[in-house]
Amino acid sequence: MRYLIANWKMNLPKGDLDEYLEKLGEGESWHSTRIGIAPPFPFVPGLAADLEGSRVLVGGQNCSDADSGAYTGEVSARMLRAVGASFVIIGHSERRSLYGEGDELVAAKVKVALAANLRPLLCVGEDLQTREKGGAVALLERQLDSALGSLALPEELWIAYEPVWAIGTGRNATPAMAAEAHAAIRRKTIELSGDRTRPVILYGGSVKKENAAALAAQSEIEGFLVGGASLDADGFLAIGEALELARPGA
Ligand code: PEP
Repeated sequence: MRYLIANWKMNLPKGDLDEYLEKLGEGESWHSTRIGIAPPFPFVPGLAADLEGSRVLVGGQNCSDADSGAYTGEVSARMLRAVGASFVIIGHSERRSLYGEGDELVAAKVKVALAANLRPLLCVGEDLQTREKGGAVALLERQLDSALGSLALPEELWIAYEPVWAIGTGRNATPAMAAEAHAAIRRKTIELSGDRTRPVILYGGSVKKENAAALAAQSEIEGFLVGGASLDADGFLAIGEALELARPGA
């Protein structure tokens, strides 16, 4: 199965939300690609209720590392699960850079998500300077080590490779760059899990309908995490079609 995940960030799709959801219904006929939406927190319960019984998954964009208590403004993994979320994005580069989330916090969030039976979608990715110095793979390995190294990992784990320099910039990694990074992430995750885990690795960073087919043609790419382009249902669906058509029925 491949996954097409929308990260709406602190936005809503343009126009009518019901129309957006109705259009996404076209993805119900896809055999090998499944859609997920991560809206801002207040929209999680409503969307989960609207989409109940469909193949579309609903998730959070973040969660607390704590289970409950005096943490003003935080939302726990268990709460997200209780209102119908099935996954949660963890360690997005905007959380790391704008809110100072470090490796240790990211690791704690992955742990609480797994404990709450909420599928973590762990984001890793290098900044431009690190890539230019040839250190991308080493950084990805370090991020994986600190996020996953101390955990008992599940049989299947979602990871998004999101090079920081490609997020919201209009620049995307070339298919070959992404494939190389995905292969390194796969190797490292399997090693950390003692061969127990099958990583499902999505690419994120300025994916749009114009570049989706070339990226989707890489067998290492098992889906996309889409920010800006997910706000328009037609463009988002076109990205999903590229994924579906790249390896139909696979
Ligand atoms: C993201 O925020 O996860 C992302 C990939 O954003 P964009 O598609 O806008 O680059």
